[in-house]
Order: sequence, then structure tokens, then C-alpha cells
Amino acid sequence: MSVICVIGTGYVGLVTGTCLADMGNQVTCVDIVPEKIERLKQGVLPIYEPGLKELVERNVRADRLRFTTSYAEGLKDSEFIFIAVNTPPDNTAGGADMRYVESAARNIAEELDHYAIIINKSTVPVGSGDFVSRVVRNNLQRPDVRFSVVSNPEFLAEGSAVRDCQNPDRIVLGSSEPEAAQKVAHLYLPLRAPIVVTDLYTAEMVKYASNAFLATKISFINEIAQICERLGADVKEVAVGMGYDRRIGSGMLGAGLGYGGSCFPKDVRALAHMADEAGLHPQMLHAVMEINHDQRRLVVAKLTNILGSLRGCTIGLLGLAFKANTDDMREAPSVDIIRWVTAQGAVVRAYDPVAMETGRFSLEQEGVRLDAVTFCETAYEVAENADAVVVVTDWNEFKSLNMQQIRDSMRRPVLVDGRNIYEPAEMNHLGFIYRGIGRGTNP
Ligand code: NAD
Repeated sequence: MSVICVIGTGYVGLVTGTCLADMGNQVTCVDIVPEKIERLKQGVLPIYEPGLKELVERNVRADRLRFTTSYAEGLKDSEFIFIAVNTPPDNTAGGADMRYVESAARNIAEELDHYAIIINKSTVPVGSGDFVSRVVRNNLQRPDVRFSVVSNPEFLAEGSAVRDCQNPDRIVLGSSEPEAAQKVAHLYLPLRAPIVVTDLYTAEMVKYASNAFLATKISFINEIAQICERLGADVKEVAVGMGYDRRIGSGMLGAGLGYGGSCFPKDVRALAHMADEAGLHPQMLHAVMEINHDQRRLVVAKLTNILGSLRGCTIGLLGLAFKANTDDMREAPSVDIIRWVTAQGAVVRAYDPVAMETGRFSLEQEGVRLDAVTFCETAYEVAENADAVVVVTDWNEFKSLNMQQIRDSMRRPVLVDGRNIYEPAEMNHLGFIYRGIGRGTNP
């Protein structure tokens, strides 16, 4: 049993802290937002993640998991201190905003009174481990206190965060002090995952390279989708045919609206920015971002191709969050789509199984006209008198809808399937004017 402090109770911090507690450790999670901590203490989670609520409850009940706003309380006796705060894009050329990491490091330094290993889980530019060391060293209240810094990038995906955290494909640890990295490795042994121990810079780079590669796969298949559509092939089947090749693998080959969320967009941008700063010309990363941006516009182009002017049209949206099984609205395609169609005079009816609250909040923050958006309680309500329905996320719930009922309640039977969850022939048979992404039978 180890005593652990986790700084930040977002998707990564809360899931990591809870899973570490579930492994038998004593974990205290610290956040600077008092309402978040207050609600967590009452059992109300700040995010939606399958299986997380039950796991939090179980570990709180066993008194292995606590929440506080106090660094002093969180750090007390902690042998391991995980930093899992947000690193959003900064407002310049696309680098990472290190403000929150810096403030976490400073707060740790002010309270640390014993040796501890500070483990950085946030996605941070290469070289940030040194930055964290510097900030802690320069702000230590007790300059005699020793500490080590280890980079431990996180690879979990929202929507399956608990499962990913409990069954990671690998654990990556980087440090200039191999003994510190080994102690962290020991913490992870019960997970029986391969552990890669390397230096700080390399560990930080593994994270960016991995995310950039996954984003590249998505943009690649989206480019293939456009070619399929023009030439009469079906990208969904092309992806299946490709995926059996072990050198390729079947993951991340779903053509659609492109990637979104809090990681891929900012991480690809940040890596390109690091490369630019280093005097390089990361051509592929720029192409990946460009293709991704175009995918969202494609939906609006498909709508106008069928409906003509969107003025006065009602567009139904199935899904608001950036993907299924999450309520995260960061860089969600729905925001751009709603912005663009309402700018052309359409009104929107939208539904998401878990992102209604975060969706409304995000659209408001992004300056989208809320008077043009009706938030519906079911997918069927979205379709009522709609001129078109757009599938934005691939929730299982949407895959098993009664599509006859959907079609019957629409004003015009236009279905733009941004995630290719339906079969074109079936939808055509039901009387829909169906448009998928990259499905050659539907140019
Ligand atoms: P998040 O925005 O969901 O959560 C961050 C939390 O940190 C918030 O609750 C915030 O209040 C808190 N915080 C900010 N500054 C703090 C401080 N000084 N002290 C204490 N708490 C503080 O972020 P996230 O999605 O969990 O991401 C965290 C990091 O992990 C980011 O660097 C991200 O790139 C990386 N990451 C995210 C994912 C993901 O799927 N979300 C996956 C892998 C890696």
C-alpha cells in the first residue's frame, strides 16, 4: 500500500486516483475548484465516464479515496504525487498552456516537507520535466527537502477511461533518476502491463508521437473516404479489409467527422508547434490537421447539396459531445456544425445521451446562438419535423433506433450519417435520402 496524492480531478486525475485507490493504495485527490471537491465529497462526479461512479463510491466507502482542496492535506505522507491538471492550447501558435502545471508545481513546493516522487501525467511539451523540477526547486519552503520528477504520460481514452486505466497497453516512465522511475514502476506492477522506462524527454515525446499517429490514421482514412466516395468504393469495408493486416491494425480507421476532444487537436497542434520552433517543417502534421478541419465542413456541404439553401430548415443532431460515451464537449464537431448551419438560417434540434448539460454550456461559451437550438429529450424528438438528421456521434443507442419511426416523423427524409453507423442500402430502402462518409454508392 502506498500513500498517493493526485493533483487535478478531471478525466485523467479522477480516473487515475480512483484506479490507484482500487489497487489498494491510500489516495487523496486535490483540486482547486471548491465546488468540484464539495460535490465529489457528496458523491456527485464532475464528469461522465462509464463505471467511474461505482468505482469512486466503492473506494470512498473503503476510506481509500478522499477529496480536498488543500495541498497540505493531500501531500501529507504522500510518497507519490501525480500531476494531472489540464494543459490546454495557449493562445499563440498552438503550444501548450503550462500555467496550471506551473501552479501545481509551485503549490507542491510550498507544502512539501518530505521526500516524494512527483509524477507528471499531464501531456506537456518535451522538456517540461525539467521545468517542473525547476519550479519546485525554486519554490521549496524547505530547501533541504529532496524530490524526484518522473514523466508518466497517460494514454486513456475518454469513454473507456476506467477500462483503459485498469488495462493499459503499456506504462511509459521517464526520468533522469532510474531508481525513482523503478519505484513508480513498482506501483503499476499489479496491472501486468509492459513498462517502458526511458529518459524524461523521450517519455514526453512518446505521448505526442502516439496521439499524432492516431490522429494521422483518422485523417488518412478520411482522405481515403473522399476518394472512395468519388470512385464508388465503400470506405467502411475498405477499412475492414485493411484492418486485418497486423501491420495496419483495425483501430482508428473509422471514417467520419474527424477527431475532436481535448487531446488529439491540441496535441497535434502542439507537436507541430514544437517542430516549427525547432526549425523543422512538419508537413504531415499540417496535412493531418487540414484534412480534419475539412471533414466537419463536409457535413454542411452534404446538407446543402441535398436541401439547397438551409434557410428555414430544421436540422436534427444526434450527439453533441466529441464522441460517444462521454460528456466532453471540448473541440466537438457539433459546435462547428451548429454554428455553420445556424449562420445559414437553419434551426437545430439536438440530443445527446449524456452531454445535454455540458453541451448547452459549451455552445453558450462558444457564442453559438442558443435561440436557434432546441435541446430534445430523446433521439425521436430530434427527428420531429426535421428536414435532415445528422449523426454526430456513434452511441449504441443511435444504432438501434426505430428508423422507420424516425423517417415518418421527419419533414424531409434526409439522413447524413457522419459516423457511418447505418447501412446505405437499408436506409435507402426505408425511404431515406442517405449520405454516409466515403460510401461510394452515395456520391
Ligand atoms: P480536465 O480539464 O478534465 O481536468 C483538469 C483538472 O485539474 C480540473 O479539475 C482543474 O480544476 C484541475 N486543476 C487545474 N489546475 C490545478 C491546480 N493548480 N491544482 C489542482 N487542480 C488543478 O483535464 P484532463 O482531460 O483530465 O487532462 C489532464 C491532462 O491529461 C492534460 O494534459 C491532458 O492533455 C492529458 N490527457 C488527457 C486525456 C483525456 O482523455 N482527457 C488522456 C490522456 C492525457
